[in-house]
Amino acid sequence: MVRDFWPLAVAVIIALVATLRPFINIAPAKQEAGEHLDQVDLRHWDQSRQPLLKLSGQWRYFPDQLLEPEQIPLQLDGGHWVSAPHFFAGAQHYRADSPAYGSYLLNVNLAKTTDLGLSLPSSCSSTKVYFYPRGSADKQPLFEVGRVHAQAKYNRNSLARHHRSFGPQLPPGEYQLLIQVASHHSATGGLCVAPILGKFDTLQNLHSFQQLSHGLVIAIVFSFGLYAVGTYISGSRNRSYLWLGANALLVALAAWSTQNFWVTGFGLDEHSGNVLAYGLVHALGTICGPLIVGFVHHSFRVHFVSNRLISANLLLGILLSLPFLFLTVASSRPLIVIIPLFGALQFIFALYLLWQINRRRLPYGRRITLYLIPLFAALFYQLATYLGLVQAANYLLASVVFLTVAQGLTQSQKLARASQVASRLSQGLSDAVLERTSALHLKNQELLRTQKELTRANSELQTLSITDGLTQVYNRMHFDRQLLIEWQRARRESSSLCLMLLDVDHFKRLNDQYGHTSGDEALRQVAKILTDKFKRGVDFVCRYGGEEFVVILSNTLPEQATSLAEDVRTQVQTHRFMHSEQRLQLTVSIGICGTVPKIEYQPQELINCADQALYQAKRNGRNQVVCAQQSQLVNT
Ligand code: GH3
Ligand code: MG
Ligand code: MG
Repeated sequence: MVRDFWPLAVAVIIALVATLRPFINIAPAKQEAGEHLDQVDLRHWDQSRQPLLKLSGQWRYFPDQLLEPEQIPLQLDGGHWVSAPHFFAGAQHYRADSPAYGSYLLNVNLAKTTDLGLSLPSSCSSTKVYFYPRGSADKQPLFEVGRVHAQAKYNRNSLARHHRSFGPQLPPGEYQLLIQVASHHSATGGLCVAPILGKFDTLQNLHSFQQLSHGLVIAIVFSFGLYAVGTYISGSRNRSYLWLGANALLVALAAWSTQNFWVTGFGLDEHSGNVLAYGLVHALGTICGPLIVGFVHHSFRVHFVSNRLISANLLLGILLSLPFLFLTVASSRPLIVIIPLFGALQFIFALYLLWQINRRRLPYGRRITLYLIPLFAALFYQLATYLGLVQAANYLLASVVFLTVAQGLTQSQKLARASQVASRLSQGLSDAVLERTSALHLKNQELLRTQKELTRANSELQTLSITDGLTQVYNRMHFDRQLLIEWQRARRESSSLCLMLLDVDHFKRLNDQYGHTSGDEALRQVAKILTDKFKRGVDFVCRYGGEEFVVILSNTLPEQATSLAEDVRTQVQTHRFMHSEQRLQLTVSIGICGTVPKIEYQPQELINCADQALYQAKRNGRNQVVCAQQSQLVNT
């Protein structure tokens, strides 16, 4: 919460300093209680508390007359009194709020040697100042403000407020001060005395300090303006930056104008050389309202009125401000009424937007409302000033400075928070991605393992599906499939393919005599003899059924097959089949058929042929090999 409001606190301090600065009196001056303005009016005490200055009366104003010292009537009746005691940043001012054109007269009674001077705004050009000892014959003008400007087109020393000394150390005595203001520009000027305390012991030092403080305030506003406009240009889509930045830059420009930093001599009024600054201040005062409205409008994503209306409002402001830039001071004076009227319109517009924003409880809505309160208060005050109800003051500038600084800081806070959120989000995202990736990796590994197991199981299953469970040689299904493959290959290669069909002799008897377990064992051993014998990759030993085996012999001639079969037969005959330590005698009969497969033959014919050969062997008395002739194959 504290973190949220520190920009507000900073802005309040800046605004307070900017607003109250004119009222802070650091000199040990004080107004004597009970003394009437007509008599002493203001005393400036030195260290020994002796009065330095006595003014014999209030300012006397002669409207529409540029009096020469010689014309000053002895009887001072008939003029308008204009006066107000005023303290100004360490120097005491005796101020006349002048309605411009005319002469001002003041009798001064100096009690002690002092550094006395005149304070005049530099915009008060074409002003002649006479200051002379009463009754003196030499009544030459002391200086002309307009002359100062005329001497240098760009006058760095043209002071925001002239603090012109009447002489380094004026001796005590009675003096008269006459000011002829030829311009129509209203100005506030007065006598000033260098303060005794602090570093501002001369008027020039005081002036330098004031320029520095003005410059700092302008620099702050200007920097915020640049920052906000820069933020918009460098990619932020939020147009409130643009409006805020434009406003801040214009305020800086206006303040700058009052500081008279501009090239002089642009005056359209020959009596008022500083008209550019004058026009700018009023023109910018007109444009500020629409810019603030635009800023409020664009600070929120929800737009209560169309963007076009906001732009049209700004355009209207620019159009209304043009007369102040191009007309003479005198002819633009009646138009000043536009400023409070247009300002009131902007005020209503902004109030409507704020009402909508607060009604919908938009984030930052309350804060922006809070920031705008001092601005509105200042606008009211300004309105009253234009209507002549109250004296002019720096409130408007101060409140705009306040708003600008507060908003600039808030926007940067918003930006910082947004980037924080973004980085948090992206961190969370990358964490989530990492987590997900590693989970996927684990899953993938698991999947690979499962796949491996599946492949193994599959190949096992495949092996099982083509293997005979008892003897572990290929089964009948595999025999059928393999015979077809070998048959086609042999036909393509025109090579000889032989089939060897083997049957155990009198196996039934063995089963009956020694039991099926012994029979099974005998079958396993016969199969072993066969697989040991036929080790080539192209030889397939299969169980044909019961106690019958079949061997596919690719690329083998019938004679070769017969010889191999003879070996098998002999081996079986000589093999020691055991049953309970009792040796059993077993023999096998083998039928062989071989051929080079032709297109017109079928593999089944080869089986039949081998079967017939086996049958022949059985008939011939068993335990022998019979190889079928080629003709037998064709005959079947
Ligand atoms: P021959 O010399 O004429 O071939 O006489 P044989 O007894 O061998 O022929 P037969 O077809 O009469 O008998 C075959 C016997 O083989 C019948 C059956 O009990 C036995 N037999 C078939 N398959 C198996 C088996 O897997 N295990 C065992 N132990 N006996 C089997
Ligand atoms: Mg049989
Ligand atoms: Mg048999």
